[in-house]
Amino acid sequence: MAASAQNLRINGDRLWDSLMEMAKIGPGVAGGNNRQTLTDEDAEGRALFQKWCEEARCSMGLDQMGNMFAWREGTDPEALPVYVGSHLDTQPTGGKYDGVLGVLGGLEIIRTLNDLGIKTKHPIVATNWTNEEGTRYAPAMLSSGVFAGMHTQDWAYDREDAEGKKFGDELRRIGWCGEEEVGARKMHAFFELHIEQGPILEAEGKDIGVVTHGQGLSWTQVTVTGKDAHTGSTPMPMRKNAGLAMARILEKVDEIAWSHAPHAVGAVGHIDVYPNSRNVIPGKAVFTVDFRSPDLDVITDMENRLRVAAEDIVDEMGLQIQFERVGGFDPVKFDGDCVAAVRGAAERLGYSHTDIISGAGHDACWINRVAPTAMVMCPCVDGLSHNEAEEISKDWAAAGADVLFHAVIETAEIVE
Ligand SMILES: [Zn+2]
Repeated sequence: MAASAQNLRINGDRLWDSLMEMAKIGPGVAGGNNRQTLTDEDAEGRALFQKWCEEARCSMGLDQMGNMFAWREGTDPEALPVYVGSHLDTQPTGGKYDGVLGVLGGLEIIRTLNDLGIKTKHPIVATNWTNEEGTRYAPAMLSSGVFAGMHTQDWAYDREDAEGKKFGDELRRIGWCGEEEVGARKMHAFFELHIEQGPILEAEGKDIGVVTHGQGLSWTQVTVTGKDAHTGSTPMPMRKNAGLAMARILEKVDEIAWSHAPHAVGAVGHIDVYPNSRNVIPGKAVFTVDFRSPDLDVITDMENRLRVAAEDIVDEMGLQIQFERVGGFDPVKFDGDCVAAVRGAAERLGYSHTDIISGAGHDACWINRVAPTAMVMCPCVDGLSHNEAEEISKDWAAAGADVLFHAVIETAEIVE
């Protein structure tokens, strides 16, 4: 990159004003947002984004999943575009920045390039992915998932909300179902800016998280079977206490996760004991072990050790056990060159930074399967997200967008 380009910055005030303007659409009850996917508020947010993109002289694309693409022309008609974006939909009690920062950060890059009269070889496309949150329509990251070939479009259209309204019908109803085939676009690269949604960057006093991996997830549902019996009249040696076996297994889950510190985590958040009565020794316990790691081998090791340890525990107690894998996805390793572009941008701009692993799922995790991809993270106050009190500072937003800007223009290649 030419020396003249090294100090370029986006307009932090304009980015912040746009975030505040978007937040007026679908206000929450406590200062945040309720702009759930495929609602009238979602349609209104999309229209505002489209208006801003058209004012920035972009041409708009819309695919059959409602994904929006604002295209700024490059100088080389053969060069594939660099895509940049996230999502405008929110949780029912969501914040003003989760997703929105990444979409409007993409728009801000285009506005800044226009201001400075800078041309790039590759086109730059600011993107809004439909239904990232997955609250109204499960699963999360539905439309980037269809784009990346993880789900079929028919299956996505058939997803139902709590009132039985289908995704496809609601997409048409709000008027944002396009003609374009989903996933037909080819990308030179994809970049997503997102708030961290965790406490690490703020605690370490870092401006920027360079996201190297997305955490993989494994859910194993465990059923331990013993025998229901009276808590008063059954002698201790004769008990088949499934609740006690579960308690011993929970200790093992914690121990196994700690053995792969700091990146692996493990917990049991779902527990049912039967019959769940004060004076009955539980004859059955059903619980789900949640293991996560950015390394697939570590996940496999944790799953295997759980089974061995749990079988030892129940054998010694004379109980039965069953395991069922009920969910999960593989870890994501983001593209080396794109990650290096993000790290180099933070370095060049003088922002403090650290490598970080995304604990949450993001559209970038699916797009990484079809294009070289990386993510930029900025801190959020107390790590709080999926909460109306979600907060970031204007400086954090600007720093994140500056790094996104530099990573994108380096990849899209400035034409001198
Ligand atoms: Zn998000």
